[in-house]
Amino acid sequence: MASVTTASAAAREAVRTPAHAPLDAVVVGAGFGGLYMVHRLRQAGLSVQGIEAAGDVGGTWWWNRYPGARCDIPSLLYSYTFSDDLQAEWRWTEKYATQPEILAYARHVADRFDLRPSFLFETRVVSAIFDEDAKLWRVTTDKGDQITARFCVMATGCLSAPRGLDLPGAETFQGRTLVTGLWPHEPVDFTGKRVAVLGTGSSAVQSTPLIAEQADQVYVFQRTPNYSLPALNAPLTDEEVAGFRANFPMYVELLRSGQPPLPIPPADYVPSDEELNALVAQLWNGWGLISAVQIPNIVRDERCNQAAGDFVRARIAETVKDPALAEKLTPRDFPIMTKRACVDTGYYETFNRDNVELVDLRETPIEAITPTGVRTSQREYAVDVIVSALGFDAMTGALLRMDIRGRDGRPLAEAWAEGPKTYLGLAVAGFPNLFTVTGPGSPSVLTNVLTACEQHVDWIMDAIAHVRSTNAATLEATADAQEDWVAHVNDEADKTLFPRAASWYMGANIPGKPRMFMPYVGEGYKIHCDKVAAEGYPGFALGS
Ligand code: NAP
Repeated sequence: MASVTTASAAAREAVRTPAHAPLDAVVVGAGFGGLYMVHRLRQAGLSVQGIEAAGDVGGTWWWNRYPGARCDIPSLLYSYTFSDDLQAEWRWTEKYATQPEILAYARHVADRFDLRPSFLFETRVVSAIFDEDAKLWRVTTDKGDQITARFCVMATGCLSAPRGLDLPGAETFQGRTLVTGLWPHEPVDFTGKRVAVLGTGSSAVQSTPLIAEQADQVYVFQRTPNYSLPALNAPLTDEEVAGFRANFPMYVELLRSGQPPLPIPPADYVPSDEELNALVAQLWNGWGLISAVQIPNIVRDERCNQAAGDFVRARIAETVKDPALAEKLTPRDFPIMTKRACVDTGYYETFNRDNVELVDLRETPIEAITPTGVRTSQREYAVDVIVSALGFDAMTGALLRMDIRGRDGRPLAEAWAEGPKTYLGLAVAGFPNLFTVTGPGSPSVLTNVLTACEQHVDWIMDAIAHVRSTNAATLEATADAQEDWVAHVNDEADKTLFPRAASWYMGANIPGKPRMFMPYVGEGYKIHCDKVAAEGYPGFALGS
């Protein structure tokens, strides 16, 4: 394996001077989107520079090292499909892979395709500015690099701008603060510690049971109870792996044709009560989110949604011994799946432990972090460690933390002041030759993010080939096409129950962030993107 530092040093040497010849492309991010983007660009013989803030590849899996971190869809699906050889040689060991194993997979991909030399690591993009005269993107980094490239691909991830502990008084806390999305690399020992876990999203739901096994005392500060489905994680058997491999060609064919790769009920299927009861019972079969999408129209149909929510509520009541505590842990304020449901190992059971206490913030809100712990309206909780699991500035945070400017020097932050506006989640009007991998306005987080990355990268490669083959200088979404797409994204969201939850999908978790449903929830997305490419990119303008 090439040393990360060496690879970065060599890459830096080649690009750091302003005089270097413009590259074909710059790619920001070495997560699953960025790795594949760089691979495809290099395969096509284009010059590319990747830039990554982390010390190595892996994206979100490089940063999120908290105990219990795993994927929440089956590992066999959490894999690239672009290379049959890669697929054949990698064997996942568990149904839901751990963070170390997923990171090892990303590293394996980087080694196998020798991708590291194309990246500058431990390097953060400060600005990306479109030079209208030269028709080039000028990218500067916090290490002083200035890179110019014709195309700029933002593979910056949807959940990569973590929210730190930003509650009043946080800076006064004298114990240790750990942020799930920025977890230290060395193991953390909670033995003998009193721990506050802030938040009850996936990160807290995954980490709390393991922290509780070590710590003396854990206080879980819950603002909104969540729906969580049991992972029933287990080692993958050879038969399961072989079965998946045998069906892999069909799975890939379905993906490539834009069909759902797993069977889902048709939109007009109305199950009988008996059928519905059988389907919702599957929520406890260990296939979590996969089982949830087998429930017809779960995010559209009140009856089906209610049945699924009721089923989870009944399981919580059965699992948590203290009925009053079970009620506090029971989600009632929003329809199931309108916030991403969690997939857990022993989450509800953890509240039966003597050393775990739930602090219901709806009854006693947090007033401040103090030097010794967390103060609610009722009392102070003295702790040694605060585990902050307050989520991410999702989908737009990583993009808006950079100074991205398009035509006329217009900042992306200004273009998105009312919420993110894109065409197809791939391009932004006024930002020629800039592409967003799994950008807002695309299905991204509502689907398998790995295959969503692959679909976007493949589409971007075709778009770049189109620009080059037509001898155009730029490809740019038109304002009209973007406006229509944004309206369509909103219309599709309005046909669902999603807007009823104050979720990060809506931007509702970040104070002051515009409320707008960001992922695309309509059907046939890939078919639509392919049609745009096949018809010569209507909705885009070519610039000479
Ligand atoms: P999250 O789902 O946004 O959860 C953040 C938690 O912090 C929520 O419980 C939220 O309460 C709470 N919170 C926010 N501000 C607060 C405040 N001022 N006071 C008290 N509580 C506050 O974040 P996450 O758990 O990091 O997960 C984010 C997403 O990342 C997931 O939905 C998932 O897509 C992905 N993820 C996946 C996995 C996995 O299983 N593979 C693991 C981790 C993360 P409210 O609900 O009231 O806002």
